[in-house]
Amino acid sequence: MRCVFCHNPESQQLGPEIAFTSNLCIKCGACVDVCPQGALAELLSGRILRDKCNYCGKCADVCPTDGLRLIGKYYSVEALTEVLLRDFEYYRHSNGGVTLSGGESTLFPSYLELLLKGLKAKGIHIVLETSGYFNYGAFRRKIYPYLDLIYYDIKFVDNATHLKYCGRPNGIILRNFRELMTEGKVDILPRIPLAPGITLTETNLGAVVDFLRSSGAKTVAPLSYNPMGLSKFETLGRPKPNLPERFMTPEETRQAYEILKRNSLFR
Ligand code: SF4
Ligand code: SF4
Repeated sequence: MRCVFCHNPESQQLGPEIAFTSNLCIKCGACVDVCPQGALAELLSGRILRDKCNYCGKCADVCPTDGLRLIGKYYSVEALTEVLLRDFEYYRHSNGGVTLSGGESTLFPSYLELLLKGLKAKGIHIVLETSGYFNYGAFRRKIYPYLDLIYYDIKFVDNATHLKYCGRPNGIILRNFRELMTEGKVDILPRIPLAPGITLTETNLGAVVDFLRSSGAKTVAPLSYNPMGLSKFETLGRPKPNLPERFMTPEETRQAYEILKRNSLFR
């Protein structure tokens, strides 16, 4: 999906990305000299030739200011398991665990099956955050058996609006939610990301709440809008979405909570 209000657009591409933060760049030119692809030939005028980049990371290694950063890294299942188990004692003493967060980890069911099997064998609590846009059969076989809790984001019920703001239809998301509620073996906390004037409208929140109630949900967690993701789009060379560059006002917060409370769906 490509939600315009995404907080982590750097995780939308299925691989590493180069981020350029122009106000950190001191124009030393070190990155230009080491790039083997000529992708930074126009960097000093603010442009990366991204179609030439092979994500080798050499520019980020020499940048003295973090003006250029390589985001994302490949891990084998064994390597990632080793990293996660470094905090094993911390999980145990804090009643914590591992959260699979966004991007959308369900894009990799076979990888997750191997990873989660190993973590579960150690008794680690596992939470999944998901957009719900996944193949239910693969999810149920390979991921679901290892989960303790699912955070499931619902943005819109109206399909055309979902397509407009998230780039994909939402039928699969709504169907999967209902399937999981029926399955019932793992706790699900539905969440609504609030974006003023987009998801946060009387019509949309009312429709989402109606959907959740009719699916058997007893609660929902509203996620307050924050504009922190907007500047990331620019560092990735993508147009910045036309969204509020501020946090939610008290009035917008009150409006959202009123709608949820009115429908007895608020934690
Ligand atoms: S990641 Fe490698 S190829 Fe891409 S801009 Fe940096 S040095 Fe060049
Ligand atoms: S190495 Fe960093 S600071 Fe120097 S020109 Fe490149 S991005 Fe700018």
